[in-house]
Amino acid sequence: MRKRDYYEILGVDRNATEDEIKRAYRRLALKYHPDRNPNDKEAEEKFKEATEAYEVLRDPETRARYDRYGHSGVKGFDFGFDFSAFDLSDALRAFMRDFGSPFDDFFGFSRQQTRHAQRGSDLRVKIALSLEEIASGTKKRIKFRRLATCRACGGTGARKGSALETCPSCHGTGQMRRVHRSFLGQVVNVSTCSRCRGEGTVIVEKCKECHGKGLIELEETIEVKIPPGVSANNYIPIRGKGNDGPHGSPPGDLIVYIEEKEHPIFRREGDDIYCDVPITYSLAALGGKIEVPTLDGQVKLDIPAGIQSNKVFTLKGKGLPRLHSRGRGDEHVRVFVWVPTKLSKQQRSLLEKLRSLESTDDLKPGKSFTDRLRKLLGD
Ligand SMILES: [Zn+2]
Ligand SMILES: [Zn+2]
Repeated sequence: MRKRDYYEILGVDRNATEDEIKRAYRRLALKYHPDRNPNDKEAEEKFKEATEAYEVLRDPETRARYDRYGHSGVKGFDFGFDFSAFDLSDALRAFMRDFGSPFDDFFGFSRQQTRHAQRGSDLRVKIALSLEEIASGTKKRIKFRRLATCRACGGTGARKGSALETCPSCHGTGQMRRVHRSFLGQVVNVSTCSRCRGEGTVIVEKCKECHGKGLIELEETIEVKIPPGVSANNYIPIRGKGNDGPHGSPPGDLIVYIEEKEHPIFRREGDDIYCDVPITYSLAALGGKIEVPTLDGQVKLDIPAGIQSNKVFTLKGKGLPRLHSRGRGDEHVRVFVWVPTKLSKQQRSLLEKLRSLESTDDLKPGKSFTDRLRKLLGD
């Protein structure tokens, strides 16, 4: 099946603003949201399609890639944002992230009544990575607690061998119907049965392991592979590692959020890194080689003679790997002249000798400054 154009899906221009994109998406999402269209496969597809388009176009970076390369520019990243593997839970999560969960009050629907409530909740964990780990990619062991279906009762919450009884309040329907008269005529109010929470059955004898909840808390450890080049905006969803759902229904996802540890030397901006390196006055004047730190260890850098403070040298390809494409960013090294705060006897005498040989004419920027000053004063 041919994939439709993302702009066409949202019904916006190719040069639509972020705001227009957001508004167009919200309108479609509210129309096709599964909570509003229960068991409607076509609406679900439309919701998914619109959300996928929105997810790509809301981010200037993915949008630019899509504009340039089309659908193939945004698929197959072996990562959380592989839009070719975009599914309904991704779509629901994306919608919730930007628009909250308005449906509960909005349409008088409760998510409990729709079928994806029959899925466990997602779990969130954060992992902090150093720049070196981000540069190389890494594997991390994550220990976390999740709710798992109780083995003893298979998630029913009833003690083994004991039967579930039809709820005496709602007679097994899971709903309470109240009929009352109003000036409009007879009105039927339907609500979820509070005694059985809509299940239609009640537990006579509770399972001893889970105390009738059907779920028990477990500690699990998993290993997560982090691709090189991630940043604090990325997350990695691990399917099925969230909480198990009620009554043995499928689990939610574990969502691993990336955090960046502050680096003692480097500052990150996108895929580029920045650092400041001090050099001595003599090196600045005479030129020479210095060692500068990179994420892969020290490298030699040629400093030409007569360099001024704040000069930036770019080391091509010494930045971070690009997550969504080939290659690496750059490293920018700013050198500055370090003025010693303590001098040895010999250094002092040499500097004094140097001072006697220096002339203010050597201060080139100063000279042009005096020139400009003179012009300004009409001299
Ligand atoms: Zn149990
Ligand atoms: Zn009931």
